[in-house]
Amino acid sequence: MNLDLAGKVAVVTGGSSGIGLATTRLLLAEGAAVAICGRDEARLKAAKASLGAPADRLLAVRCNVRKESEVRDFAQAVERWKDACDILVNNAGQGRMSTFANTDDDAWREELELKFFSQIYPVRAFKPLLDRSKAAAILAVNALLAYQPEPYMVCTSAARAGVQNLVKSLAAEFAPAIRVNAIMLGLIDSGQWQRRFAAREDQNQSREQWYGDLARSRHIPLERLGEPDEVARAIAFLVSPAASFITGAQLEISGGVSRYM
Ligand code: NDP
Repeated sequence: MNLDLAGKVAVVTGGSSGIGLATTRLLLAEGAAVAICGRDEARLKAAKASLGAPADRLLAVRCNVRKESEVRDFAQAVERWKDACDILVNNAGQGRMSTFANTDDDAWREELELKFFSQIYPVRAFKPLLDRSKAAAILAVNALLAYQPEPYMVCTSAARAGVQNLVKSLAAEFAPAIRVNAIMLGLIDSGQWQRRFAAREDQNQSREQWYGDLARSRHIPLERLGEPDEVARAIAFLVSPAASFITGAQLEISGGVSRYM
């Protein structure tokens, strides 16, 4: 299948690690030009080096998606670079492990702000460029937690549910010009889980043991965590013209872990 991504301009927030990096690599391989952002300059530099794309195909900009002025500057940099944006992948972020009992008000505000404004600010900043595209698509990287909250991720789950609602509203409001879809992730072996593995309680536990226990404890039918590449392939399809009649949809990428119908 031809995804028809050659020549498109894509923006991937949080493109310096994990799912965002894998998505950037795949979009580049499909012929798109990609602009990525992240907060950490060194991580961006390393990502740029590992991707090895020329300056007319890859732009890396330091930007915290929680800061509207930085997101606006990022959009202006993309405008100067290509004067176009066909694809926006809102991927930047991370989950918060917490229960209701140990989540204070500041943590609630921080989490709601991260989950909502990591979508709202980029959509607002890139909308004028997306409006000029003939194949515009927005993709929200979201989590299964939106529908299936976990007891140890109380405030992230609640925020994820709100984001899913927002995606539906955007899909209706922006149609027919811009398609808006979401992916619902289960557990993916990216930076977040690698950091948790590095900080594991029992430092003698091997990678295989630790990840195996994790997959078993979460009852993942495919018996493992997903790989960033497996998510990237779904993202590339949903943002491509090959998915031209898909909007307001959610695609679950979880190894079958959902229990809801
Ligand atoms: P990684 O930690 O590997 O990558 C996260 C990326 O987002 C990095 O490039 C990071 O760069 C960037 N980032 C984080 N916060 C910000 C910010 N405020 N502004 C700009 N960039 C930011 O994790 P994943 O690849 O797993 O995460 C990708 C998305 O998938 C996240 O939104 C995450 O919540 C979501 N997700 C992941 C799941 C999983 O199991 N892996 C499950 C469910 C959802 P830097 O730190 O330099 O800013």
